[in-house]
Amino acid sequence: MDFFTSLTERFIKVCDGLKGKSFPYNESLAWNDLGYNQVLLQRYTKYELDGVGFNLVTTSPLTDETVVFGDDLGDIKSNRKFARVTLIQVDDIAETQDTYDLLKKLDFIKYHISPEGYMMRSTSKTHKEAVRVSKEALKNGMSFEKIGDLFIKKYKENPTVKAVRVIFITDPKTDFSELEAIAVKNHEITEALNQVMNNVMFDCDNCNLKAICDEVEGLKELHFKSAKENNSL
Ligand code: SF4
Repeated sequence: MDFFTSLTERFIKVCDGLKGKSFPYNESLAWNDLGYNQVLLQRYTKYELDGVGFNLVTTSPLTDETVVFGDDLGDIKSNRKFARVTLIQVDDIAETQDTYDLLKKLDFIKYHISPEGYMMRSTSKTHKEAVRVSKEALKNGMSFEKIGDLFIKKYKENPTVKAVRVIFITDPKTDFSELEAIAVKNHEITEALNQVMNNVMFDCDNCNLKAICDEVEGLKELHFKSAKENNSL
């Protein structure tokens, strides 16, 4: 079941009209992963990217690739607003607690990616993501394609992941506030999935999850189906 279809559609609308470049996945180009959290000092930093970074999980077919809307890392000269959105195709999102667990697992992967000279700081709740970009790494040819290849490689280590499209956006024409709104809603739906599965209330009119259940197709069915399976109804 695709709980995030409407968010994916909103995201596609944000990208409409932006000029993008696509790079098919090439594992051999994946940027070096340090394997630990690096600290990049200001004096070694060329600029900072500031925005949101989040996943949208889908069962619709995707191709492994990196897409860049706007300037690439080597073309940016000073601090810039940006977004990273990772579309992840999984086999199927089962109607069980496994769904929530899988989404959380996929979300945590980003905390285990440490591209050399690309220091990421992110928060899980708001999906804010800030990146410090090193002067040295830029000299050594770091690009979004190579960072994207590293992300794809890491996500594909999870056997449920079938394909990954990593999208970097730096075009100043982008509606970044809409991307922030999508990131927040994405988090709310993910948390609602967890709460719905554990909710012992079955009176929709008096339930605090009513608003999100009305909005996201499939949530209501999920709650009542799981309750029946667990004999709570
Ligand atoms: S279906 Fe949604 S709104 Fe209705 S009781 Fe369950 S969680 Fe609450």
